[in-house]
Amino acid sequence: MKRYSVFAVAREALRDHMGWERAWASPEPKKRYDVIIIGAGGHGLATAYYLGKNFGITNVAVLEKGWLGGGNTGRNTTIIRSNYLQDPSAAIYEKSRSLYETLSQDINYNIMYSPRGVIMLAQTEHEVRGYKRTAQANALQGVTTEFISPQRVKEIVPIINLDGPRYPVLGGLWQARAGTARHDAVAWGYARACSAMGMDIIQKCEVTGIRRDGDKVTGVTTNRGDIDCDKLGIVVAGHSGHLADMAGFRLPIESVALQALVSEPIKPCMDCVVMANTVHGYMSQSDKGEMVIGGGTDGYNNYTQRGSFHHIEETVRALVETFPMVARLKMLRQWGGIVDVTGDRSPILSKTPVEGIFINAGWGTGGFKAIPGSGWGFAELMAKGHSPLCDEFGLDRFYQGRFIDESVAAGVAH
Ligand SMILES: Cc1cc2nc3c(=O)[nH]c(=O)nc-3n(C[C@H](O)[C@H](O)[C@H](O)COP(=O)(O)OP(=O)(O)OC[C@H]3O[C@@H](n4cnc5c(N)ncnc54)[C@H](O)[C@@H]3O)c2cc1C
Repeated sequence: MKRYSVFAVAREALRDHMGWERAWASPEPKKRYDVIIIGAGGHGLATAYYLGKNFGITNVAVLEKGWLGGGNTGRNTTIIRSNYLQDPSAAIYEKSRSLYETLSQDINYNIMYSPRGVIMLAQTEHEVRGYKRTAQANALQGVTTEFISPQRVKEIVPIINLDGPRYPVLGGLWQARAGTARHDAVAWGYARACSAMGMDIIQKCEVTGIRRDGDKVTGVTTNRGDIDCDKLGIVVAGHSGHLADMAGFRLPIESVALQALVSEPIKPCMDCVVMANTVHGYMSQSDKGEMVIGGGTDGYNNYTQRGSFHHIEETVRALVETFPMVARLKMLRQWGGIVDVTGDRSPILSKTPVEGIFINAGWGTGGFKAIPGSGWGFAELMAKGHSPLCDEFGLDRFYQGRFIDESVAAGVAH
């Protein structure tokens, strides 16, 4: 694979850009792989990448029923932060955030990481106490965050309305090295790096069955034939329940629609991400100038990738009271994804009752930020049978009542 560089851009400019290679190959599936990953979203592709990079395992296929990055990875609002409350969460999200800092160089693909800072507004006394507690927990975990005053919030975000009609801004949890990245580029960059290592990324290949010999996995059935494997990673976000059903076990997960929308492009007016969890809305500005807006999940389980109208209404209402200028904006487009939510709002990175099958799921509304860290840890779990980053997130926690409660950090937020 030819490296992307300033020299490559200059060379191609001189020959009408006719020399660029395809970023990844489109091979036919082989009969057998050491490892199959189901789902070419960010988490599946990152897992494959770190299996190859960290453990030398490259006889790997990533099977995708649609197009790579076409699930939640290409539908999210790209917020990256690591200001979680519990130690296992802070460990994996901070690992992820730190990998994002140098991911463009690592995979030789510009993922446009922008550490522009994230504020989570505190708009009730309960939130003030919750975020102060999180800031103290973060200090102990080595994650740099601070609780800031309303005046400091206004300095950072001049367009904010501190005296909302329902809830005033009482402060905020500020993480200066949090930010955003280009979601498609994360998927495309990992895919290109995996393909360069000789892995097969097979799109339009839907897994319709999981084959077992007793309690051990032997392979999968797909719309392109049977494929054998020694190990299988299920990394399909909102479809996790279906795939677990095919494998013969159940998951403590609910699938719900989550939506986002963008406005027409406007001049730069906000250079950080602001999340207002009490009123249920958040906003950032894209490089094109569009205001990127999101809110909470639909209140009922469903598998649509659209979401309901009343939720957009609620999100826009929240944003209008936080940023009155939003009322003058035209909205350009809206979309949705299916997110997989667990009871304690923490992910599942785990072995399963079937030998050789591993599951990476439950990232809910906030898994984009976790892609590099999750891939790093899940690859280790699949290669070695355990991983310090994943061990606390096993399925056994639901039997043992050992929950990793992230309802403050992740209940609404992304
Ligand atoms: C509107 C919205 C906003 C969000 N905002 C943020 C945010 O700001 N910050 C953040 O951190 N997170 C955010 N998230 C959450 C984040 O997008 C997800 O947690 C993350 O992208 C999950 O990645 P994934 O790789 O696990 O899943 P996905 O990207 O969904 O990939 C799973 C893949 O599996 C494939 N698949 C499913 N079934 C099969 C099958 N049978 N055979 C083969 N392939 C199959 C799917 O087609 C899909 O491509 C948001 C999500 C949404 C929907």
